[in-house]
Amino acid sequence: MSLFDSLVVAGMPFVPKKLVRHFADPYIAGESLQDAIDTVQRLNRQGICATIDVLGEGITRKEQATRAVDRYIQVVEAIEREKLDANISIKPTQFGLGIDPAFCRDNYRRVIEVVKPYDNFIRIDMEDSPFTTLTLDLYEDLVKEYPRIGVVVQAYLRRTLHDIESRLAPVKANIRLCKGIYIEPHEIAYRDFDIVRKNYILLLRKALEAGMYVGIATHDEMLVWEAYRLIDEMGVEKDQYEFQMLLGVTESLRRQIVQDGHKMRVYVPFGQDWYPYSTRRLKENPKIAGYVAKDILGISRK
Ligand SMILES: Cc1cc2nc3c(=O)[nH]c(=O)nc-3n(C[C@H](O)[C@H](O)[C@H](O)COP(=O)(O)OP(=O)(O)OC[C@H]3O[C@@H](n4cnc5c(N)ncnc54)[C@H](O)[C@@H]3O)c2cc1C
Repeated sequence: MSLFDSLVVAGMPFVPKKLVRHFADPYIAGESLQDAIDTVQRLNRQGICATIDVLGEGITRKEQATRAVDRYIQVVEAIEREKLDANISIKPTQFGLGIDPAFCRDNYRRVIEVVKPYDNFIRIDMEDSPFTTLTLDLYEDLVKEYPRIGVVVQAYLRRTLHDIESRLAPVKANIRLCKGIYIEPHEIAYRDFDIVRKNYILLLRKALEAGMYVGIATHDEMLVWEAYRLIDEMGVEKDQYEFQMLLGVTESLRRQIVQDGHKMRVYVPFGQDWYPYSTRRLKENPKIAGYVAKDILGISRK
């Protein structure tokens, strides 16, 4: 990332919200449930399935969590009504993990009760490190009650290898493997780009060897290639993995993976609480950060 782009990323909180929204548009389906349905239908027509995320996180009042649960129930019903090839992803802090873990668990249970007759899948997203253990505990409690549930692990965390070996592999957990998006202290997280990549490959191999189902969530072509290699070398069956990408990111690589005959799932976020998610995406995309700065400065884009 150039110095200019780094400055833009550092200055993101001062970028007008309207402009952030403009540049973040490709990353979110829209503000309404209908926007999410339209996006998923478009993806389904391309042979791609989806996971729907109702935007929102880090809530501080129980009523906010209760509203999020109601919204997710509407999503589950829409998936069935519209016959979408999609499941849901839920952030634990949106269901109140930061307020009270028992309350959060009960909120997931409310959604599980609605999902159960449809036998659809629920993914528990992974957030920053104060919530890692609590989220794994939550997963372990819920999967005993409803097996169609999975969790996320982050390759940048030093603890993840141990978490897979000691907690997730023994129960053949269904995981999404990603690099990790939050800013974490060096004591607990690898910061070096190559080490995170190498750890990702190690974790992927461990998980596949253990017979776990893996959502290979990355836009990093080198990791996609490494995943292809492992799938080939280990003779991994198609029902043991899928690739996953975020809406609006590396669509040409996405098309390539689908053409190569692999299952692809796209993360489709929607809702009014788009700001934190959007700024995380913009910070990951140095080019877009540059566009934002140029737009503010009135420099035309080439
Ligand atoms: C389906 C899915 C679910 C996720 N869930 C979680 C989660 O629960 N918890 C969590 O901590 N993280 C989650 N992440 C985010 C993940 O941890 C990474 O931050 C993110 O995927 C970027 O890492 P990467 O592997 O794509 O590699 P990178 O090296 O970051 O990206 C590889 C290439 O992809 C392109 N790219 C990446 N991001 C963007 C962007 N925003 N705009 C344009 N181009 C881009 C660039 O060309 C970049 O060089 C998820 C990611 C995916 C795909």
